[in-house]
Amino acid sequence: MTKERKLIIAGNWKMNKTVAEALDLVNGLKRELATVKEVDVAVCPPFTALESVSKAILDSNLRLGAQNMSENNYGAFTGEICAAMLKEFCVRYVILGHSERRQYQKESDALIAKKALAAHAASLKPIVCVGETLAEREAGQTNQVLETQVRGSLAGLSKEQMVETVVAYEPVWAIGTGKTATTQQAQDAHAFIRGVLAQVFDDATAKKVRIQYGGSVKPGNARELMGQPDVDGALVGGASLAVRDFADIIKNSI
Ligand code: PEP
Repeated sequence: MTKERKLIIAGNWKMNKTVAEALDLVNGLKRELATVKEVDVAVCPPFTALESVSKAILDSNLRLGAQNMSENNYGAFTGEICAAMLKEFCVRYVILGHSERRQYQKESDALIAKKALAAHAASLKPIVCVGETLAEREAGQTNQVLETQVRGSLAGLSKEQMVETVVAYEPVWAIGTGKTATTQQAQDAHAFIRGVLAQVFDDATAKKVRIQYGGSVKPGNARELMGQPDVDGALVGGASLAVRDFADIIKNSI
């Protein structure tokens, strides 16, 4: 399918895969996706597998992402990883503000914006996640929540940095639940987010930003979701852990 923006499909492995398992998965993906040029494909393993996966994909069309990073560059921050450490493994993308981190680590929009700026300072491309909970959707607050998160989590970025940032719309109620937003719900949210980006930056910038959909994306629903005009890719959790599923999501999106 012909799209205005090149699709970007990333696999968020979360806290799954030992090094040996990660290599099995990524070697399978390399074989399955060797000829894919139409879509930017990234895998986001846990920190512990970044080095091995980085080496394994050197000669491939797969790109590497991390699942989080610190807003600080170095220092006394026990347990944290900074941008320069990710760069050592040729990491290109970093997921920021995933709803699990917003929920369990209480990450705020302001913190996510600091991380996004730190990522850009190191030439990493952030994938900034936004999305409403079921309660917020049912209360009719979806657009208000998305606007607050988009404005807050991307605060301070220049237009040039925004173009190099990916936004992931991930309705919290669709993550890992098997419930997918309808294609219309996804398209509406993506168009709304692009409208907010046009207000904050400008129309030309907003038109260039890639907005991924995330939430129970599977081989069976990928084509219809990617067919929406403002859906520019997917952030895939559960289905990115198996070669067959992730490869088929990508093949079905082309
Ligand atoms: C995610 O956590 O980013 C995600 C979209 O998960 P899943 O695909 O499993 O719903």
